[in-house]
Amino acid sequence: MKPSKPMRTLWLTASALFLFCLLRSGAAPSAADVLPVSGTVPQKLVALTFDDGPRRSTTTALLDGLAQRGVKATFFLIGRQIPGNEDLIRRMDAEGHQIGIHTYDHTILTGLNEADFQAQVEVTRTLLTQLLGHNGFLLRPPYGMVDDGVKAMAGAPIILWSVDPEDWREQGADLVSQHLISQAKDGDILLLHDIFPGSVEAALETVDALMDQGFYFVTVEELFSLRHISLENGCVYRCAYP
Ligand SMILES: [Zn+2]
Repeated sequence: MKPSKPMRTLWLTASALFLFCLLRSGAAPSAADVLPVSGTVPQKLVALTFDDGPRRSTTTALLDGLAQRGVKATFFLIGRQIPGNEDLIRRMDAEGHQIGIHTYDHTILTGLNEADFQAQVEVTRTLLTQLLGHNGFLLRPPYGMVDDGVKAMAGAPIILWSVDPEDWREQGADLVSQHLISQAKDGDILLLHDIFPGSVEAALETVDALMDQGFYFVTVEELFSLRHISLENGCVYRCAYP
């Protein structure tokens, strides 16, 4: 899994990503826009991921805070929460965040037959495709529960996480951000839930602290791309350590 290609390839890939992000996001600043591309891939990359949204109040506050900081994240959405929140999801997409599937109604996917599985995953994929006009959504199964059936039917790379502060316990923003700040390393995928006010607060505190430490926040897709790891449908990914 370690990148072994020559530095020239690293530079070209980083440059291509830089140009792609510039074209995609126009003049708006983003983490990828400020990735250093002169000779090296940045050494400390981290992907911030949010499950169980969107929720209008908390997700809006989070998107505002991320936009102020020029940071991109990845959102694994619940399908039944798409109706009524279309504008929020279009905003995520337009602002360069990555969007993934977290089932239709947070059902555990292991042990499901194909019809029940696709009622969770394909139905949500179709809603997102109709809304955004593109496809290619990553999958995060609820509770990270994966079996051979989930892998076979996923139709997408399966993205888990490597740092979990258990923010759903609602133990307070400071404890959550302290956990994230103390544990985050290069290549980590951080798990949060954008349905709790404390999680939004913790996420933004964490972004500020880790940016001060030289971390760059990228989407899941960017994280693996910058590490030259191809995401394959039905395979499980937890991190992209160098
Ligand atoms: Zn969840």
